[in-house]
Amino acid sequence: MIESTHSSPERAEVRAVRESGRTTVLVIGAGINGISTFRDLALQGVDVLLVERGDFASGASAASSHMIHGGIRYLENGEFRLVRESVEERNGLLKIAPHYVKPLETTIPIYSTFSGILSAPLRFLTHKSGKPQERGAFLIKVGLTIYDTFSRDGGMVPRHRFLGRKRSLAELPSLDPNIKYTATYYDASMHDPERLALDVLQDGRAAHPGGAIALNYVEAVARDGANVVLRDRESGTEFTVAADVVVNASGPWTDLTNDALGTDTRFMGGTKGSHIVLDHPELLEATRGREIFFEHSDGRIVLIYPLKGRVLVGTTDIDADPREVPVCTEEEIDYFFDLIHHVFPQIDVTREQIVYNFSGIRPLPRHEDTAPGFVSRDYRIEVDEKGAAPLVSLVGGKWTTFRALGESLSDVVLGLIGRTRTVSTAGRAIGGGRDFPRTEKARRIWIQENLPGAGERAERLLARYGTRAAQVWEYIEQGDDAPLAGGDLSTRELAWMVENEMVARLQDVILRRTSIAFTGHADADVLEELADALAPLLDWDRARHDAELDQTRTLLNERHGLKISSRTRG
Ligand SMILES: Cc1cc2nc3c(=O)[nH]c(=O)nc-3n(C[C@H](O)[C@H](O)[C@H](O)COP(=O)(O)OP(=O)(O)OC[C@H]3O[C@@H](n4cnc5c(N)ncnc54)[C@H](O)[C@@H]3O)c2cc1C
Repeated sequence: MIESTHSSPERAEVRAVRESGRTTVLVIGAGINGISTFRDLALQGVDVLLVERGDFASGASAASSHMIHGGIRYLENGEFRLVRESVEERNGLLKIAPHYVKPLETTIPIYSTFSGILSAPLRFLTHKSGKPQERGAFLIKVGLTIYDTFSRDGGMVPRHRFLGRKRSLAELPSLDPNIKYTATYYDASMHDPERLALDVLQDGRAAHPGGAIALNYVEAVARDGANVVLRDRESGTEFTVAADVVVNASGPWTDLTNDALGTDTRFMGGTKGSHIVLDHPELLEATRGREIFFEHSDGRIVLIYPLKGRVLVGTTDIDADPREVPVCTEEEIDYFFDLIHHVFPQIDVTREQIVYNFSGIRPLPRHEDTAPGFVSRDYRIEVDEKGAAPLVSLVGGKWTTFRALGESLSDVVLGLIGRTRTVSTAGRAIGGGRDFPRTEKARRIWIQENLPGAGERAERLLARYGTRAAQVWEYIEQGDDAPLAGGDLSTRELAWMVENEMVARLQDVILRRTSIAFTGHADADVLEELADALAPLLDWDRARHDAELDQTRTLLNERHGLKISSRTRG
């Protein structure tokens, strides 16, 4: 993590927590799973403090392939429980978070009829793997049929279909003409993971005002009996909080956090995965709005996927040390170009078309001789009751299953504090997904009624906030407003984010409250413009303003493959 070089006054929320010095449950790590657990406990009326050493959803949760998926390929690992739960959760999220989770038509290009039939069941029996055999049409058909069966009750997405070569190429003319078939089915795409996480978090805070508190840029650094030592990375102050239960939801860093708390665990064995984002209209057009999900020549399942007018390409799966900062390497970029060429041989791609890249570590369980791509994606919960307060560690957990996982983890915690569940999160709308208009007509009416006068901005606000856009627009209208970042943002909207969305740093806005970086719009001018606009809102002096610019530039250049140079004011 790029360290801050400044220190700021203590934030009011941090002061309140420091002065109180206690909570019932302390959750360490605000990735989607810590956040989901936080919301669930808040809904039960339990006092809960969530601390995150970076910004909310800035760890593994910011590095995903943006898929809410049943995980068809986990079937060959024999992970039927996980696939069933994932499909159910996918169907659920399409209903409760329709503002960010949308059906995604997915096509698998297939080059053979029978390959992989022997190796896949063998892998399922042994849970080990060498290089897998190519998955042929027969195997994919079996998988998709099971997948459809799991989907049956939800009925949220259509069943799969198989096409021969000719019809496949009629639908997707740029595909490699050597394919034999395509299989097309539906999963779901998560358009704004970081904003979805924020929505879940906000729902948690609102469910138990004053009792459910979430702090970003606060790190758990040590433990002293029932007290956990926290460090506020903004002000630099350290203080302790006593909790009846401590939940370690620090994703790939779970063992490192346990170590800081004085408990030696060997739960984790994370793998690194990277993605590139391309501004490539021809490739975008070639996907015809679908995710192309396929097996590359090394047996890895990879994807090419249209998102926000760009093309997302990923991913790799390489054993990783969580103490090191994951970055997308030149070799990984070569691998991505190779995989694009594998399915779209006529389309050229160059490095200049990459507008952004990102890399993260999957919080997977420790795996000995299992190849990275075949390590279980299921999660488990470990409870250590030896210390002054029980320490509950989460091992694993995908984005897709966050709601169910939060419920399971919260049930364990409720058991430890002698409370029972009063509210379920199943079927409960998330944030701006509440009353979200689903048809074109409903959308038009909703905009007329809730965003009067928003004009061209209406669609953008609805996409960014879901139905929370109504409150944002009301706020924007109450003051002078001017466009920022080429019109993607405005001064009043930024002020809304600072007042309501716990923005602490420039990078929070560029990377997580908006998609400015993801879509390739974070250049030197935009950074400077946003730093200028944030300075009065966050009481930054010139030194802090300049430090923010410097850190954000370094972060974007070193971790996201950009080449932003500092520019002198003109
Ligand atoms: C390349 C890649 C692709 C993926 N694609 C998908 C996908 O398409 N669909 C899907 O469902 N899943 C996907 N996943 C998996 C999914 O993103 C993760 O499993 C999930 O986001 C994990 O969330 P988490 O909350 O458990 O961990 P994290 O998001 O990593 O959260 C843990 C948090 O703990 C914080 N932390 C660590 N130590 C401390 C401390 N001492 N004090 C305070 N805070 C601390 C970290 O800063 C971090 O924010 C993908 C993952 C990767 C890496």
